[in-house]
Amino acid sequence: MKRPAVFLDRDGTLIEEVNFLSRVEDLRLFPFTADAVRLLKDSGYLVIVVTNQSGIGRGIYTEDDMHAIHAQIQVELDNAIDAFYFCPHLPDGGCECRKPGLGMIESALANFDIDLERSWMVGDKKIDVETGIIGNMLTALVLTGYGAEHQATFEIQPTLISTDLHDAVKSILSTKSNGSI
Ligand SMILES: [Mg+2]
Repeated sequence: MKRPAVFLDRDGTLIEEVNFLSRVEDLRLFPFTADAVRLLKDSGYLVIVVTNQSGIGRGIYTEDDMHAIHAQIQVELDNAIDAFYFCPHLPDGGCECRKPGLGMIESALANFDIDLERSWMVGDKKIDVETGIIGNMLTALVLTGYGAEHQATFEIQPTLISTDLHDAVKSILSTKSNGSI
Protein backbone atom coordinates (compact mmCIF):
# COMPACT_ATOMS: atom_id res chain seq x y z
CA MET A 1 0.00 0.00 0.00
CA LYS A 2 1.30 3.44 -0.94
CA ARG A 3 2.29 5.76 1.88
CA PRO A 4 2.83 9.50 1.80
CA ALA A 5 6.34 10.68 2.54
CA VAL A 6 7.77 13.82 4.05
CA PHE A 7 11.07 14.56 2.38
CA LEU A 8 13.19 16.57 4.77
CA ASP A 9 16.15 18.74 4.04
CA ARG A 10 18.86 18.14 6.64
CA ASP A 11 20.90 21.29 7.38
CA GLY A 12 18.86 24.16 8.78
CA THR A 13 15.68 22.04 8.79
CA LEU A 14 16.28 18.86 10.81
CA ILE A 15 19.51 20.05 12.43
CA GLU A 16 21.12 23.40 13.05
CA GLU A 17 22.89 24.90 10.07
CA VAL A 18 26.66 24.51 10.34
CA ASN A 19 28.66 25.48 7.28
CA PHE A 20 30.06 22.19 5.88
CA LEU A 21 29.24 20.15 8.98
CA SER A 22 31.91 17.45 9.18
CA ARG A 23 32.21 16.38 12.83
CA VAL A 24 29.67 14.52 14.95
CA GLU A 25 30.55 16.75 17.90
CA ASP A 26 29.26 19.79 15.97
CA LEU A 27 25.89 18.12 15.26
CA ARG A 28 22.94 19.84 16.97
CA LEU A 29 19.39 18.68 16.46
CA PHE A 30 16.80 21.38 17.05
CA PRO A 31 14.99 20.87 20.36
CA PHE A 32 11.73 20.17 18.49
CA THR A 33 13.14 17.73 15.90
CA ALA A 34 12.53 14.45 17.74
CA ASP A 35 8.92 15.38 18.50
CA ALA A 36 8.22 16.55 14.97
CA VAL A 37 9.63 13.40 13.38
CA ARG A 38 7.76 11.18 15.85
CA LEU A 39 4.45 12.91 15.03
CA LEU A 40 5.00 12.21 11.32
CA LYS A 41 5.84 8.57 11.94
CA ASP A 42 2.84 8.09 14.22
CA SER A 43 0.62 9.46 11.44
CA GLY A 44 1.94 6.94 8.91
CA TYR A 45 4.36 9.10 6.94
CA LEU A 46 7.66 7.87 5.65
CA VAL A 47 10.35 10.31 6.78
CA ILE A 48 13.14 10.58 4.24
CA VAL A 49 16.11 12.95 4.36
CA VAL A 50 17.37 14.39 1.05
CA THR A 51 20.52 16.44 1.43
CA ASN A 52 23.01 18.19 -0.84
CA GLN A 53 26.48 17.51 0.59
CA SER A 54 28.86 19.21 -1.81
CA GLY A 55 31.44 19.31 0.99
CA ILE A 56 32.25 15.75 -0.10
CA GLY A 57 32.88 16.80 -3.71
CA ARG A 58 34.90 19.76 -2.47
CA GLY A 59 37.09 17.43 -0.39
CA ILE A 60 36.15 19.18 2.89
CA TYR A 61 34.90 15.95 4.47
CA THR A 62 34.40 12.34 3.42
CA GLU A 63 31.33 10.20 2.87
CA ASP A 64 32.28 8.32 6.02
CA ASP A 65 32.25 11.58 8.01
CA MET A 66 28.74 12.22 6.72
CA HIS A 67 27.56 8.67 7.46
CA ALA A 68 28.82 9.07 11.05
CA ILE A 69 26.65 12.17 11.39
CA HIS A 70 23.63 10.35 9.97
CA ALA A 71 24.21 7.44 12.34
CA GLN A 72 24.24 9.86 15.28
CA ILE A 73 21.02 11.52 14.03
CA GLN A 74 19.41 8.06 14.03
CA VAL A 75 20.61 7.45 17.59
CA GLU A 76 19.08 10.74 18.73
CA LEU A 77 15.83 10.08 16.82
CA ASP A 78 15.49 6.43 17.84
CA ASN A 79 15.98 5.29 14.21
CA ALA A 80 12.94 7.23 13.03
CA ILE A 81 14.42 8.27 9.66
CA ASP A 82 13.40 5.74 7.00
CA ALA A 83 16.26 6.66 4.65
CA PHE A 84 18.94 9.25 3.93
CA TYR A 85 19.75 10.21 0.36
CA PHE A 86 22.65 12.54 -0.35
CA CYS A 87 24.24 14.28 -3.30
CA PRO A 88 28.04 14.50 -2.93
CA HIS A 89 28.62 16.50 -6.10
CA LEU A 90 29.64 20.08 -6.76
CA PRO A 91 26.93 22.61 -7.65
CA ASP A 92 28.20 22.89 -11.24
CA GLY A 93 28.96 19.17 -11.60
CA GLY A 94 26.01 18.49 -13.88
CA CYS A 95 24.61 15.64 -11.78
CA GLU A 96 20.91 14.86 -11.54
CA CYS A 97 20.82 14.25 -7.81
CA ARG A 98 21.65 17.72 -6.51
CA LYS A 99 18.48 19.56 -5.45
CA PRO A 100 16.50 20.97 -7.20
CA GLY A 101 17.20 17.95 -9.41
CA LEU A 102 14.97 14.99 -8.67
CA GLY A 103 17.59 12.22 -8.53
CA MET A 104 17.29 11.66 -4.78
CA ILE A 105 13.48 11.70 -4.94
CA GLU A 106 13.58 9.18 -7.80
CA SER A 107 15.86 6.91 -5.77
CA ALA A 108 13.37 7.05 -2.90
CA LEU A 109 10.49 6.27 -5.28
CA ALA A 110 12.42 3.21 -6.49
CA ASN A 111 12.95 1.97 -2.93
CA PHE A 112 9.62 2.79 -1.26
CA ASP A 113 5.97 2.63 -2.33
CA ILE A 114 5.31 6.37 -2.07
CA ASP A 115 2.08 8.27 -2.67
CA LEU A 116 3.72 11.34 -4.19
CA GLU A 117 0.53 13.39 -4.47
CA ARG A 118 0.16 13.38 -0.68
CA SER A 119 3.89 13.85 -0.06
CA TRP A 120 5.74 16.94 1.08
CA MET A 121 9.15 18.48 0.61
CA VAL A 122 10.23 20.54 3.62
CA GLY A 123 13.33 22.72 3.72
CA ASP A 124 14.92 26.05 4.50
CA LYS A 125 16.10 27.02 1.01
CA LYS A 126 14.56 28.01 -2.27
CA ILE A 127 16.06 24.89 -3.90
CA ASP A 128 14.10 22.73 -1.45
CA VAL A 129 10.82 24.37 -2.41
CA GLU A 130 11.79 24.11 -6.09
CA THR A 131 12.51 20.39 -5.67
CA GLY A 132 9.03 19.87 -4.25
CA ILE A 133 7.35 21.91 -6.97
CA ILE A 134 9.26 20.19 -9.79
CA GLY A 135 8.46 16.84 -8.17
CA ASN A 136 4.71 17.63 -7.94
CA MET A 137 4.68 17.56 -4.17
CA LEU A 138 3.30 19.86 -1.52
CA THR A 139 5.99 22.15 -0.11
CA ALA A 140 6.84 23.82 3.19
CA LEU A 141 9.52 26.44 3.75
CA VAL A 142 10.80 26.58 7.31
CA LEU A 143 12.28 29.82 8.65
CA THR A 144 15.11 28.14 10.56
CA GLY A 145 18.55 27.86 8.89
CA TYR A 146 18.55 30.05 5.78
CA GLY A 147 14.75 30.14 5.63
CA ALA A 148 14.12 33.67 6.85
CA GLU A 149 16.80 35.00 4.49
CA HIS A 150 15.63 32.95 1.50
CA GLN A 151 11.98 33.80 1.97
CA ALA A 152 12.65 37.36 0.83
CA THR A 153 14.11 36.18 -2.49
CA PHE A 154 11.15 34.06 -3.54
CA GLU A 155 9.22 34.40 -6.71
CA ILE A 156 7.78 30.92 -6.13
CA GLN A 157 5.20 30.08 -3.49
CA PRO A 158 5.52 27.13 -1.15
CA THR A 159 2.29 25.51 0.01
CA LEU A 160 3.18 26.55 3.56
CA ILE A 161 5.62 28.86 5.29
CA SER A 162 6.30 27.64 8.83
CA THR A 163 8.36 28.93 11.72
CA ASP A 164 10.19 25.62 12.06
CA LEU A 165 9.86 21.91 11.41
CA HIS A 166 7.51 21.33 14.33
CA ASP A 167 5.18 24.06 13.10
CA ALA A 168 5.35 22.61 9.56
CA VAL A 169 4.48 19.14 10.82
CA LYS A 170 1.47 20.40 12.75
CA SER A 171 0.21 22.11 9.57
CA ILE A 172 0.91 19.03 7.44
CA LEU A 173 -1.04 16.81 9.83
CA SER A 174 -3.97 19.23 10.03
CA THR A 175 -4.21 19.57 6.24
CA LYS A 176 -4.14 15.79 6.06
CA SER A 177 -7.11 15.43 8.39
CA ASN A 178 -9.29 18.20 6.94
CA GLY A 179 -8.24 17.79 3.30
CA SER A 180 -7.94 21.54 2.83
CA ILE A 181 -4.99 21.39 0.45
MG1 LIG B 1 19.07 23.36 4.33
